[in-house]
Amino acid sequence: MNMSRSIIIAVLFLIAELPLSAQTETYNDPCGVPDSSALSEIMTASGNWGYGYDTLLYDLSEWEKNPFVTVDSAGSSVQGRTLFVMTIQDTTADTLHLRQRIWIHARTHPGEVQGTWVTNEMIKYLLADNDTANTLRRRYVFNIMPMYNPDGVEIGLDRENANGIDIEGNWNAGLPEKEVVVLRGQFQKFMAQPNPMKIMLNMHSAYACKRYFVYHALGGTSQLYTLKEQRFINYIRSNFLEGFEPFTYYISWVNGTALQYPESWCWLNHKEKIMAMTYEDGNCISASDFGWTARAIVRGIDRYLQDTTSVLSVVASAIVPDQFLLNQNYPNPFNPTTVITYQLSIESDVIVKVYDMLGREIAVLVNGREQAGTHSVAFNASAYSSGVYFYRLISGGHAEVKTMHYVK
Ligand SMILES: [Zn+2]
Repeated sequence: MNMSRSIIIAVLFLIAELPLSAQTETYNDPCGVPDSSALSEIMTASGNWGYGYDTLLYDLSEWEKNPFVTVDSAGSSVQGRTLFVMTIQDTTADTLHLRQRIWIHARTHPGEVQGTWVTNEMIKYLLADNDTANTLRRRYVFNIMPMYNPDGVEIGLDRENANGIDIEGNWNAGLPEKEVVVLRGQFQKFMAQPNPMKIMLNMHSAYACKRYFVYHALGGTSQLYTLKEQRFINYIRSNFLEGFEPFTYYISWVNGTALQYPESWCWLNHKEKIMAMTYEDGNCISASDFGWTARAIVRGIDRYLQDTTSVLSVVASAIVPDQFLLNQNYPNPFNPTTVITYQLSIESDVIVKVYDMLGREIAVLVNGREQAGTHSVAFNASAYSSGVYFYRLISGGHAEVKTMHYVK
């Protein structure tokens, strides 16, 4: 291996370690585009991709025999099929009103049956006769809609409902589809409870044939939400590290897409109070480990909801904003000149200012629009006294501050 090749590998490694700053793509369709010929083969071979509405009815009748399960109708689809919601909790405990609420729905896209397999495995995990399941049923109330798009499943559509509409991205329609009205009604109902939804999981599967959560970029949410997402995904991954991708797949709620999706409904109405995520299992023949995946998700959710430490203190070191990366000045300490470098992932308005120990602004180093790429700016402190100074970069509604030491 020659030197240039090892440098290239090192650079690739660095990019892999900086998913937020390095990736600026906006995926509005995280499930990807199916290969229709392969899909029709699977559909024909197994019917309804191996799990139809009748199978759901049978499973619900079996699950309902468990004393911790109730099954209700939330409404109906365009063709009149019931949209079932099952509730799992231990109603014999006396803390019902304190239970943290977890919402899960699956099968928005009928062809993404792997999301259903994982959801069904989560249900089995929660209904088991063991100490873990007992604890989970006392701590939480699970509301699960296993099949959000039964018409599409029965008709054999890959992504649409009976009206030919993709109900995943229909939330901003003037007259939304019947299924969307039902699901939104569930969200509204449960958010009005004394114990509102803390988690909203939207179960899909992706043609990328990988397991991942659709991570929402900082530009469309907030720094705190970004940190919470990272914690959430990391807690789940910690149970199945080789299975889940790290938080490298994300959607940016910009360019008018913010109103389209169930997750963004949660964000717009309830901000950081709900961890709302789409999960994508692998939509491929080699997809497997549904039970292990389900276990990892449930255990990760539990750890996330039980962890009461400040999300900021735990993962502050992991902060890497989407739009820019602010580096430590060099040299530091310095006398009297130092250089501040930063990277922009997209063309942005940038302000870099220097403040003294008391927070007084003493210099504006950058104020204008800059191209994507690496930038540097010098700061000369000869007019000031020795001590600690702060430099702050503001771009895209977000800011980062670092400290520097001037030693005469
Ligand atoms: Zn999907």
